[in-house]
Amino acid sequence: MIDLHTHTTSSDGTDTPFALINKALSAGITTLAVTDHDTTSSWQEAISALRPPMSLVLGSEISTLTTSGISVHMLGLLFDGENLVMQSMLADTRDMRIPRMRKMIELLIIDGYNVTIEDVMLAAPKGATLGRPHLADALVANKIVASREEAFAELLNNDSKYYVSHAAPTPEEAIRCINQAGGVAVIAHPFASRRGEVISASTFTSLVAAGLHGIEVNHRDHSHEERKQLEQIALELDLVQTGSSDYHGSGKLNALGENLTDPAQWERLESLALERRVVTV
Ligand code: AMP
Ligand code: ZN
Ligand code: FE
Ligand code: FE
Repeated sequence: MIDLHTHTTSSDGTDTPFALINKALSAGITTLAVTDHDTTSSWQEAISALRPPMSLVLGSEISTLTTSGISVHMLGLLFDGENLVMQSMLADTRDMRIPRMRKMIELLIIDGYNVTIEDVMLAAPKGATLGRPHLADALVANKIVASREEAFAELLNNDSKYYVSHAAPTPEEAIRCINQAGGVAVIAHPFASRRGEVISASTFTSLVAAGLHGIEVNHRDHSHEERKQLEQIALELDLVQTGSSDYHGSGKLNALGENLTDPAQWERLESLALERRVVTV
């Protein structure tokens, strides 16, 4: 069982990397990718928790913005974690998330919602990439909403008046950066229209020109129809198709292994990386 997209307390997941590895082992996952938002800080603990028969794929889910302002998540897998260009791109994005969080809080306060940056910092694990789920947790702690789900439905979704984006590389820049660090680039949930505006089918041509390797086709935020469309695009552009849970611990309903990647697709994706960087013990 191959699950190529999960989160830990290094970003907005609720399980530590240690807990994630143990739960994935129990769930029967044999190849697991750890892909926290805009960071590689979960890698070390994940490696130390690894046990047979599991193989570990180190990665990150990079936040990007198209020139027309559409939010796109790009999974970078099997890249060199010590690559300085990559680390500086990730650090810049993490830095921009702090003023962005302050802006969202300002907008909420104007409308009478009682939440401060201190509340959000308290809700976020130490060193975690700061995201809307931490703001959601602060709103839950302050009894403004009952759950992360409700916070997103009512206040924090991409179409909400309180939503603010943060400066980020374009999808093409992120893909080129992943490639120059020796990794493979897979666009995450590209047609997840429930989250907000998504890219058009024609945009994939530009992503392929930049060096895109794969498309996350099987993901809970894609309808049957959207999966079929993406499958078609992947076939036409000769891209690898993946499936994954996008597990966030108790922060989301997504269960480990609920969507999986076909072993032949994974074999091809892995072969496209510069080096064999899958970790085994
Ligand atoms: P951010 O990176 O701060 O813009 O936050 C995006 C993250 O919020 C996503 O990666 C998801 O983990 C989470 N998210 C997005 N939509 C929802 C939702 N409807 N319910 C719960 N979490 C969500
Ligand atoms: Zn997330
Ligand atoms: Fe995502
Ligand atoms: Fe994700």
